[in-house]
Amino acid sequence: MCWTMAYGSEVATMRITIVGSGIAGLTTAISLHAAGCDDVTVFEADPRIRPLGFGLNILPNAVRELAALGLLDALEPRAIRTRELAMYNPHGNLVWREDRGLSAGYRWPQLSMSRSVLIETLAAEVRRRLGDSALVTDARLVGLTHEAGMTCGEFAAHDGSVRIVRTDLLIGADGIHSAVRAAFYPAEGPPPTNGMTMYRGTAWHSRFLTGSSMAVLGDDTRRLVLYPIDTDRSTDRVLINWVAAFPAREPDARGRSGRDATAHRESVRQQFGSWSLPGPDLVRLLDDTPDIQRYPMTDRDPVPRWTFGNVTLVGDAAHAMYPTGSNGATQAVVDARVLARHLATHADPAAALQAYEEERRPQMTQLQVSNRSMGPERVLTLAHQRAPQGFDDVRDVFSEEELAEISRGYAVTGQFDQDWVNSSRPAVRRDAWSAK
Ligand SMILES: Cc1cc2nc3c(=O)[nH]c(=O)nc-3n(C[C@H](O)[C@H](O)[C@H](O)COP(=O)(O)OP(=O)(O)OC[C@H]3O[C@@H](n4cnc5c(N)ncnc54)[C@H](O)[C@@H]3O)c2cc1C
Repeated sequence: MCWTMAYGSEVATMRITIVGSGIAGLTTAISLHAAGCDDVTVFEADPRIRPLGFGLNILPNAVRELAALGLLDALEPRAIRTRELAMYNPHGNLVWREDRGLSAGYRWPQLSMSRSVLIETLAAEVRRRLGDSALVTDARLVGLTHEAGMTCGEFAAHDGSVRIVRTDLLIGADGIHSAVRAAFYPAEGPPPTNGMTMYRGTAWHSRFLTGSSMAVLGDDTRRLVLYPIDTDRSTDRVLINWVAAFPAREPDARGRSGRDATAHRESVRQQFGSWSLPGPDLVRLLDDTPDIQRYPMTDRDPVPRWTFGNVTLVGDAAHAMYPTGSNGATQAVVDARVLARHLATHADPAAALQAYEEERRPQMTQLQVSNRSMGPERVLTLAHQRAPQGFDDVRDVFSEEELAEISRGYAVTGQFDQDWVNSSRPAVRRDAWSAK
């Protein structure tokens, strides 16, 4: 039950509490265990670990980290290796395409997968490594205090009971509505929205483009994103994850019922029905989508601190950003690994949390800001502004250098450019702790 840090004869025993069992929280638990810490407990507000959500992308910098944790064999068969990213204007003119993952020369693939597959795999790994008791459900953090060098978390269950947990370190991995963050930023309020509403769903459909392409279509405000996250080998069809986003004064309710699905289908059809898609038939895709969910597009303002003594933030709790550029889950995984590395290599845990923040916060702030101007999808806004009626030759609208620079600049900001990913080691090397 202890994390042994060998600094000469000094041995530190630490109890670590993680709030939230999303991608950030579960990956942090696994990474800490891989670091030699077995007193880690994850507290989740939901009564069950529910593998919820539609599709997401894990970029090679995060796949490298999941591979170092030994998870790639479990994940890859249930994911699609993304081969290309192709961006189009509403007229079907190709604005930009680039290879992705292994096809682009990365040593690790880019994986498109269902969030539920990733959550299931990570939760199973937490239980395998740390035991069933390491995942506590029906435990919502409702209070945070500090006493005599220890942090006390107050967790409430649905039956009204409350448990107090005293811990050496507390890691807030509780997402965009983080209670841990709110304890330090009580005036922050709900996440701001940019006025865009997103509709999401999945449907089985025939393959399009390479069969493992991500297509992004857009004008100056609207976006339609499509990519496969699973394959049915018997029919050779793929499960397409789609996201439609457009400015709309919609209430931020998350409609899920059949009636809502009908209304949502119609809203999406009205916005994108006349667009030229690179393969998928939009009407069929919408008709075959059983569950359509609607969300406001929200993020968080960058904050000047993530770390307060022996408490820090990871994932969306630290740096929620607009969902452009495939960085939400990716950066949550990287946070977890970098945090574990610093805890494994610093004698003073509070200094480790500071070092983690110094490494990650400036870069994540840049990415949050970049995503507010649509990240790499900015090329679609520019294409629409420069050629609203479309074009015969993209070189009449952009130079190749300008397009390449937008893409490369974003990859460098997110530290998933090929040079960096291929040439550096995973955030935590297997030998980091034994070498200490
Ligand atoms: C239900 C759900 C579905 C999603 N679907 C998609 C999707 O389809 N595609 C996509 O790209 N992204 C999706 N996301 C967002 C995506 O998972 C995150 O942007 C990214 O992975 C970062 O993850 P995270 O672990 O930081 O936060 P999250 O994934 O939001 O996880 C936070 C966890 O903390 C728990 N929690 C919240 N408050 C408390 C509290 N007070 N006490 C204890 N636990 C708490 C939540 O229940 C949740 O399990 C979804 C998130 C959620 C919660």
